[in-house]
Amino acid sequence: MKVIASIQDMTRFSQTLRIQNQTIAFVPTMGFLHDGHLTLMKEGKKRADHLVVSIFVNPAQFGPTEDFSTYPRALAQDLEQCRQVGASAVFTPSEAQMYPSGFETYVGLEKLPFHLCGLSRPAFFRGVATVVTKLFNIVRPHYALFGEKDFQQLAVIQRLVRDLNFDIDIVGVPIVREPDGLAMSSRNKYLSPDQRPCALLLHQCLETIEKMVRQGETDAGKLQDQAEKILASVPDMRVDYVSICDPETLEPVPVIAGKVLCAMAVWLGKTRLIDNRVMGPRT
Ligand code: AMP
Repeated sequence: MKVIASIQDMTRFSQTLRIQNQTIAFVPTMGFLHDGHLTLMKEGKKRADHLVVSIFVNPAQFGPTEDFSTYPRALAQDLEQCRQVGASAVFTPSEAQMYPSGFETYVGLEKLPFHLCGLSRPAFFRGVATVVTKLFNIVRPHYALFGEKDFQQLAVIQRLVRDLNFDIDIVGVPIVREPDGLAMSSRNKYLSPDQRPCALLLHQCLETIEKMVRQGETDAGKLQDQAEKILASVPDMRVDYVSICDPETLEPVPVIAGKVLCAMAVWLGKTRLIDNRVMGPRT
């Protein structure tokens, strides 16, 4: 497995594979890898001749008061995991290479970022769309895999690829959970032993809401109230949003007639947690 730090070397590596008619699957990450990331990587291996993983904590997607400097990092351990999965290369660019002085071009979407997480993290999707565009141009993959855990991010990337004519197949991978249901996340490391059981509430809340929808509840307002009531049962938890929305446009849906996305974000102490599920009435 090659560990590639320079942009030029990364592009050269991909070009060599492409000339040999070899296909490339790409998994962009911010490192501190867990089974969620590994599932994306294994899925990528199934689809293409070569797997390329990037590890880059992207400063452009963090707000000024967010956890960029404390975001967990464990490069040696991450590289070992990539090796075990059978990645052909891991791209580990520096911040100075990705955003050299004078950098001023950002990629922004008009509508999708102004829902869900974008409301409380205004710079986030601009940062994500920009870094993913750059990584796509550098790595030049045939496939790129993203987790449904970050549902809005996946929607943004799918839109971006269609709108800007990237010739890349975007593959969404279902959420990987801990045995008790908590969605895996690098940020789970921040949770104290006391907070860890409370974090389960998101998953439990999604289960309850899905059950209500399957039993015929169509009033999104009622579902939202119920979800907020469940999440409010932990004093240390603050709801950022609960949304019942269209899975493609992310626009709120007042009355449930078909498939909807139920997405939520909470603060548990200083840790922000997200979870979601696509659900619909029993057919
Ligand atoms: P991150 O390192 O958090 O930026 O995540 C890199 C990729 O892994 C993104 O496409 C995430 O959606 C995906 N991912 C993170 N956690 C999970 C999970 N629990 N299940 C599935 N995909 C995940």
